[in-house]
Amino acid sequence: MNLFRFCSGLKVLGYFMILLVFAVVAVSYYAVVVNTWWPILIESSNRGLSALACLIISLFHFLLVMLLWSCFTVVFTDPGSVPEHFRRELGGGESLEAGTSTDQGAFGSIGYCPKCRNVKPPRCHHCSVCQRCVLKMDHHCVWIVNCVGARNYKFFLLFLLYTFLETMLDVVVLLPSFIKFFSEAIKHSSSPGKLASLVLAFVLNLAFVLSLLCFVVMHLSLLSTNTTSVEVHEKNGDVRWKYDLGKKKNFEQVFGKKKAFWLFPLYSKDDLHSITSLQGLEFPTRSDIDP
Ligand SMILES: [Zn+2]
Ligand SMILES: [Zn+2]
Repeated sequence: MNLFRFCSGLKVLGYFMILLVFAVVAVSYYAVVVNTWWPILIESSNRGLSALACLIISLFHFLLVMLLWSCFTVVFTDPGSVPEHFRRELGGGESLEAGTSTDQGAFGSIGYCPKCRNVKPPRCHHCSVCQRCVLKMDHHCVWIVNCVGARNYKFFLLFLLYTFLETMLDVVVLLPSFIKFFSEAIKHSSSPGKLASLVLAFVLNLAFVLSLLCFVVMHLSLLSTNTTSVEVHEKNGDVRWKYDLGKKKNFEQVFGKKKAFWLFPLYSKDDLHSITSLQGLEFPTRSDIDP
């Protein structure tokens, strides 16, 4: 099999996946807002039900805005590549030859990428789809047609979180109509278009919420131990992971220290400046904080 063709194929698949996400969003919007809860808000004489409809519609739009914002940010943010000047900063790199790995003080262990013919900062890995080394590479994500690395991991996690919450909301608020669907289908009292969009939206959202749940749990566990998806295979089971600084510090290494920015795909200037792991070249280890 031609690996290059396979990798290019993954890129094309990515564009299809983005279209699929937008199609699911459009169908869900039609089923949840246009078809179900907006009519209730306008027509219902029950004040409690109208208030509930208002709450659901507001929450739906809030999550949708956050989802799209995180999506665009993670798609268009460079995960981080090895800077041109990196070799010089290390002092000429005389001792760095192919296949060697050496310790360079603050930068930790430096590797070498035979494909890029360049040094690799710690936690950096070569992506065969992007054809380059990516800083603190987590994985290449076909859903966003981009690598997930040091500079966009937070945005990826927020995209995951908001998509999970939005699809979960869709499933919960469509459930009563979905149950009603079976009785109405027998009586033929609802239009076929409405029913088709309801069933499609419910089934798609349910499938998404179940598969996303696995990813959410997996990435929460990775986040709490400051591990990337690539590093899971590098860890030695018995020894505590060297980048594991404790849950709170691990979280701050990805989300920053400014609480006001945690839920948004943004960083404060202070955090970008003071947290070196966000630039993807230097990472504090356990021995730095607890010698
Ligand atoms: Zn490389
Ligand atoms: Zn990649």
